[in-house]
Amino acid sequence: MGFIVKNTTFINPIDLIAPHTCRGCGRIGCPLCDCCKNNILLAHRNICPNCKSENLAGVCQKCASLPPIYMVSDRESLVGALIHDYKYSSLRALAFPLAELADAVLPNIVGKVAVVPLPTISRHIRERGFDHTLLIAKHLARFHRDWEVQSILERAGDTVQVGTSESVRRTQAKKAYKTKLNWIANPSMTYLLIDDVWTTGASMKAAQKLLTKAGATKTAMLVLAVSRINN
Ligand SMILES: [Zn+2]
Ligand SMILES: [Zn+2]
Repeated sequence: MGFIVKNTTFINPIDLIAPHTCRGCGRIGCPLCDCCKNNILLAHRNICPNCKSENLAGVCQKCASLPPIYMVSDRESLVGALIHDYKYSSLRALAFPLAELADAVLPNIVGKVAVVPLPTISRHIRERGFDHTLLIAKHLARFHRDWEVQSILERAGDTVQVGTSESVRRTQAKKAYKTKLNWIANPSMTYLLIDDVWTTGASMKAAQKLLTKAGATKTAMLVLAVSRINN
């Protein structure tokens, strides 16, 4: 598969005073250099996130009842480390290269597209100082595609989905989200759900079902990193 990545890494003026180093190779100047970005895309291969089988199309035949799932990389890779730094070290500048990588793996989607970020727990937004999924969604929609961002999902509670079993995650995910009051689905719109990490996919699948139930007819999913193991 061939990817073209434009040389558009954003350099914040603050970085000139306290420069970032590339998380991949240590080069000074930006949090992910163009060379490491290209290497991520050259190593890109799809697995079916749902059952983890090697699959070029993103979703295997067995899981074809799901809408398209686009992914950047494995969680056990540089992308997983980037997401970790982005979230847990509040390295906000990584939103730019992560959005570029997401753009590179997405196809052209005909018609109107709304990027729908999976909502982050409000406590985490306060701790990090920003909503990590929303920021990538905005960069992707505004700088790379002529799309809009619709934050139409809300958390119904503040349950953290880390380290619990697959069946527990599935049960939690069903109750985790709700659509915003008065939201009406546009049947001509493709709703592209976005999240950082896919483990069992319970959150994404629950969110997608919620949108479909509320009248969305076209949905797709985008995830930055897929865990090869279900925990
Ligand atoms: Zn590098
Ligand atoms: Zn599958």
